[in-house]
Amino acid sequence: MGLLDTDLLRRDFPVLERDVAGGKPLIYLDNAASTQRPRAVIDAMDECYLQYYSNVHRGIHTLSEESTKAFESARETTRDFLSASSIGEVIFTAGTTAAINTVARSWGDANVSSGDVILLLISEHHANIVPWHQLAERTGCRVEFIPVDDQFEISDETVAEYLDRLRPKMFAFAAASNTLGSEYPVKKWTAMAHEHDATVLIDAAQAAPHQEIDVRDWDAEFVVFSGHKVCGPTGIGVLYGKETILNAMPPFLGGGGMIMNVTTDGFTTQDLPEKFEAGTPPIVEAIGLAAALKYLKSIGMENIHAHERILGARADAGLRAIDGVRVIGPGPEKKGGINSFVIEGVHAHDVSAFLDGRGVAVRAGHHCTMPLHQALGVTATSRASCYLYNTVEEVDELIAAVADVRAKFARTGRRRRSRRSVE
Ligand code: PMP
Repeated sequence: MGLLDTDLLRRDFPVLERDVAGGKPLIYLDNAASTQRPRAVIDAMDECYLQYYSNVHRGIHTLSEESTKAFESARETTRDFLSASSIGEVIFTAGTTAAINTVARSWGDANVSSGDVILLLISEHHANIVPWHQLAERTGCRVEFIPVDDQFEISDETVAEYLDRLRPKMFAFAAASNTLGSEYPVKKWTAMAHEHDATVLIDAAQAAPHQEIDVRDWDAEFVVFSGHKVCGPTGIGVLYGKETILNAMPPFLGGGGMIMNVTTDGFTTQDLPEKFEAGTPPIVEAIGLAAALKYLKSIGMENIHAHERILGARADAGLRAIDGVRVIGPGPEKKGGINSFVIEGVHAHDVSAFLDGRGVAVRAGHHCTMPLHQALGVTATSRASCYLYNTVEEVDELIAAVADVRAKFARTGRRRRSRRSVE
């Protein structure tokens, strides 16, 4: 398996044709933050708004029936993408963050009490940390973190040791880290957690865009991801949960859509999945998400993954070869298309600004992984993240631009140092 035909694919993404920074072709390497959308997604959403948009489920008129049909068909496409057993297990949320908050509130409040442990990786995104801290504030449970070693890796033995020692109620981890790029053995760690009676939540925000997901094979109780990272729209995400556990959980948000009956005394809830979808759902976004998932499937998740791994490995090698550049992540065999790095003596924001001047879009900062940055003793990193439409030439331009930043700042750093020594 090799590179994708990017000449062909890039025609699907009009935004990639634009110039930035006074005439430089855009090199979009900020895909871990959000991907771009192909025409198929924009067209599907346009068609809904222009031809048959209406609220779903409630109306007995043509547009409402057509919208409901398209919305429920989007759910079926999502079920198929995840290989979930039934559509009841596929809940539309506002995104990964909303999905994890739903689990922490609904499952957490019902199942976690004082002294229980929620086990996370130190590299988790704030979306998979803060809701657990909030649960700890409500219940008195403890949030514990598995560290990375000096190669930025986490071994099976370390995971086993933490599971053994802490016996967590919940083990929640990202299938792929948005900062380190690491891809973790989800199925294996889930099985290990189950042996210790832990419930497992997989944050698949950085996995769903890049790899085949089979939730039945992974066997985790919960799997979550966001639409905007899989070439879909913002404002939509997915909470997959095993039917038995979702049925046992109280609903999180209350309102229209999630009820069977409401009286002055109380309410009864709808069956899954509506029980967890209070209010008007993200109708058009679900239709856009389904178009995105179909688009990815038509390319083939394995082909996308292989493409990114080649580009990621090239970026990794090129960046490591530059004197003064440190890649914050494991070697290419352990990660996908994400490369975070620091340049000695240059702040990540200056790196980002310089690269932007060359047309290269990367992200600078803590990438919502402050505990990881604190543990590694770095305040900020620059992150280049590839996707299916990126090319070898773009990666080479990234490497050349980073080498130039390093050279430029090394020169000005020397000048400043020598001036200071004269003073
Ligand atoms: N988890 C991971 C690993 C992520 O990369 C992100 C987005 N950067 C999130 C959670 C949060 O996703 P969202 O902002 O779409 O809710």
